[in-house]
Amino acid sequence: MNSIIQERTVGGRKLLAVFAHPDDETFICGGTLAKYAAEGTEITLVSATRGEMGRRMGNPPYLNRETIAAARERELREACDCLGISRLHFLNIRDKTVEFIDEAHLTARIEALIAETQPDVVLTFHEKLGGHPDHCAIGKLTTEAFRRSGCKGSLFFISFGNTMENPERFGYTRGDIAKIDVSAHLEAKLAAFRAHRCQSEIDEWVWLPDEEALSRFGAYEYFIKGDHSVPLRDAGDLFQTNAAQTL
Ligand SMILES: [Zn+2]
Repeated sequence: MNSIIQERTVGGRKLLAVFAHPDDETFICGGTLAKYAAEGTEITLVSATRGEMGRRMGNPPYLNRETIAAARERELREACDCLGISRLHFLNIRDKTVEFIDEAHLTARIEALIAETQPDVVLTFHEKLGGHPDHCAIGKLTTEAFRRSGCKGSLFFISFGNTMENPERFGYTRGDIAKIDVSAHLEAKLAAFRAHRCQSEIDEWVWLPDEEALSRFGAYEYFIKGDHSVPLRDAGDLFQTNAAQTL
């Protein structure tokens, strides 16, 4: 605990991201993670699974159900290096089974991680807009864990591409959406895409010359505020209160 307090007094910010699979962090919000890491934020990434049931097995396929978990873990560690994520934790849940795990038990595990990490920002999936049963399940339980924990930080849900340019379609307003400029961090995002080789090598654009590949990325990544009642102080920043104020 002492080390946490000490880091906060020198302005250290902490972000905890709780996702389902290796590559969620890179493919969905890699630019934002790279940006905050570059600014000195300590980032802890939690991956519920090792993605071992993924249908992509390399191109041409060179992995099988026995070898894919280790390969994806290795690739995730490399992607973390590309993005500047310093801490990686697996929940060791079997891929495609997150929705079937005992909810109270898993929520308590995530709550313990929040208590240990003391994050200023928590990122996870939206429980209805996650797009995959594992995503929705980990989002739902992380949201519950965040609320139970009494965490003073902010909760945000990640979103896909630029869908939240029109938040009204999903029952939100512009005031609920953080829009992060990641244009200075797209090289790191591309490197992380390439680190997730067994998943990304079938996507030809990822392997085009850098300039061409980088042009496929949007300049912004979008996040939904997890608490409707508190308006965003700054829509361009996930850190709504600075570290000194949270002491
Ligand atoms: Zn995923």
